[in-house]
Amino acid sequence: MGAAAVLRVARAGPLRGRRAISLKSLFTPAPREDAAAAGGRQRQQQQQQQKQKQAVGPTDLFHPLSRSPIKEMREKGLLIQQHGCCATCADESAGQGTRAPAFECPDCGYPTHCSEQHWARDRARHAELCGHLREANEDEHDLRSGRTLREFEFPSAQLAEVVVNFSSWDTFLYTRSFMNVTSTRAMRHVSKVLTYPVTMGAVLHQYSPFTLKAGLTGEGLKSMTALRTTIKEHELARSEKELVMQQMPLRVFVLGARAEAMLPPHLYLQLAYLLPSSPIHVYFVGPECIPTAEGTRSTIVVSSRLALKYHKSYFHDAIWNFAPFDPFTDIFFLFSPGIGHPRARAGWQPTIDKLLETKCAVFATGFHERDMECDVDALTEDFGDRMDWLLHPRQNPFASQKRDFGIRNLREWAISNWGIYGIRGKRYEVQSK
Ligand SMILES: [Zn+2]
Ligand SMILES: [Zn+2]
Repeated sequence: MGAAAVLRVARAGPLRGRRAISLKSLFTPAPREDAAAAGGRQRQQQQQQQKQKQAVGPTDLFHPLSRSPIKEMREKGLLIQQHGCCATCADESAGQGTRAPAFECPDCGYPTHCSEQHWARDRARHAELCGHLREANEDEHDLRSGRTLREFEFPSAQLAEVVVNFSSWDTFLYTRSFMNVTSTRAMRHVSKVLTYPVTMGAVLHQYSPFTLKAGLTGEGLKSMTALRTTIKEHELARSEKELVMQQMPLRVFVLGARAEAMLPPHLYLQLAYLLPSSPIHVYFVGPECIPTAEGTRSTIVVSSRLALKYHKSYFHDAIWNFAPFDPFTDIFFLFSPGIGHPRARAGWQPTIDKLLETKCAVFATGFHERDMECDVDALTEDFGDRMDWLLHPRQNPFASQKRDFGIRNLREWAISNWGIYGIRGKRYEVQSK
């Protein structure tokens, strides 16, 4: 089973659970309560945080999972022991009869092998990942340490006189005044969630890093010029009330939405701030798309210019909710869709078919090189003669800076939006003689 397969299987189980913990718990606002109850609750929380603080300080972030002072981390260790496999057993038995990873590597603190002997035998290969696992161990302890996570206090609207620079995360965060991201660890934390709105913004913005010199094709330039013409019109109309009323919003579709639809809505303001004059509607569409715990709300109005809409269905089934499509206002994003994955490929085909008919720009990402290649190969094989490339596959400067590891196999890792590419249905069908 390839990395993609393992991670997708894992997503349905333990990994998915972990994602929900690490993303949602950071942002979930406290429910409304009366003042006294809120005060008591706050004190309780502070005491709890204080307790955790004593156990996990900024210089004391590394703990073997089984001996972590944080319950969630101990539980994670147990999950890996239950669902994971010993890497040496896997190598030596060709996948048959692997034992549970009961032994924790002393350097990264993860249960990686069935015994110390098997750990020692795999040392050279484990060394390639051990440092990354150690980093993940410390990062997750840091997120749960109870300290105030100032890096998640994001800036609001962009100052008119400062131009956003999309060369890299560093220049982006600096020119967007993310003053609280002051360490590489903080950068890893915020990039993991910001990768979604900022990748969208980087594609759409007039100062996009995806230029003709950086993978964009002639067809890509045409598509992006159409969208940017609309954005320009929004800017010009800004001061004219009547024109504002007539504006068609930008429609940003996120298909096969999962983790990205579960992010706190206010995070998508970071996309809106990059296109400050444009009304934006983001549509999350996919069978796994659930906006709230109750699953009741289907539209969330985040600001006067930004609305998020959730459709729990396949795009090709729900398409009449969205038609007609217009390449000047509509753009599609597929975040790590797994189009080439054997079990997902047939399921994606009717959606890709409809996407190419819209003639709108479609951008997709992959969580590492092999994952992206697999999707690109499948697309080329199944739809090559019907599509144009807009952006040749390449690394995304706004990928997450964090590696996520599969619970079932710690050798398998993923980086959200590691790479990116763009396609579109051919505008003119070639007529056969
Ligand atoms: Zn073993
Ligand atoms: Zn290790």
